Amino acid sequence: MALSSKGTALITGASSGIGAVYADRLARQGYDLILVARSQAKLTALANRLSDATGRNVEVVTADLKEKADLLRVEQILRNDASITLLVNNAGVGAVMPLLASPVDDMQDMITLNITALTRLAYAVVPGFVARGAGTVINIASIVAIAPEILNGVYGGTKAFVLALSQSMHHELADKGVRVQAVLPGATATDFWSEAGHPVENLPQEIVMAVDEMVDAALVGLASGEVVTIPGLHDGAQWDRYEAQRQVLSGLFGSSTAAPRYH
Ligand code: NAP
Repeated sequence: MALSSKGTALITGASSGIGAVYADRLARQGYDLILVARSQAKLTALANRLSDATGRNVEVVTADLKEKADLLRVEQILRNDASITLLVNNAGVGAVMPLLASPVDDMQDMITLNITALTRLAYAVVPGFVARGAGTVINIASIVAIAPEILNGVYGGTKAFVLALSQSMHHELADKGVRVQAVLPGATATDFWSEAGHPVENLPQEIVMAVDEMVDAALVGLASGEVVTIPGLHDGAQWDRYEAQRQVLSGLFGSSTAAPRYH
């Protein structure tokens, strides 16, 4: 028997990897889907498979989110389609080369996708969620948001932005019925690594998580109400202490005088 609809989830970067697994899991949970990426053939194959398997309505939107006109088309859908209850802001690219070996134009393209597109899509969907008093935004960040020394620094910087934006959105929107979750995957077995020029097979396999396990864990984190979900961090109390200390520090920065150590 078909599940009653939970509304529509729009998933960016749904043609492969993490986004494609979100599509599968959310369709099975009872969401209709709008799948966004550049690869039309992959999106259409996934849409056909999921609508056959689940009976859900699955639409495909081919868009390069680095291109302003394409991005605006997706923003319009988020603004105008009141059936949308969930945005999975997942499309993103990475880099593994250090600063001195990375062409700055590539870095700018990464910023355009990982930051500008993600931000504009959040801005497009949130006013409707607030007006309706309900809605969820899942932003896919990365553990490099907290550990920027691990990979390329601009990549880490884009994901630190995603984490900070998510925390700020949660602060601003929680009492308006809008849920915000930042997901911080560690190394996950997807095309991300070969796209970045460093196939996942070259990583120590004990730090690589299967993509299904990563997404399933992130959805458990969402269901349990987490704002920040780190599937690979086994001792969650470590994060709770880190976050509690950050909250303490947040209240200590304002002062009319510089600290004595600077005099
Ligand atoms: P992936 O398999 O390479 O998927 C990336 C997705 O983004 C694809 O669907 C790709 O589709 C889409 N995409 C890329 N450029 C795009 C563009 N210009 N416009 C629209 N869509 C675009 O990698 P993934 O691991 O699933 O990555 C998903 C997210 O997880 C990213 O934000 C990444 O930073 C994050 N993440 C990944 C890892 C990891 O280890 N894999 C760890 C932490 C965070 P098309 O090529 O069809 O456009």
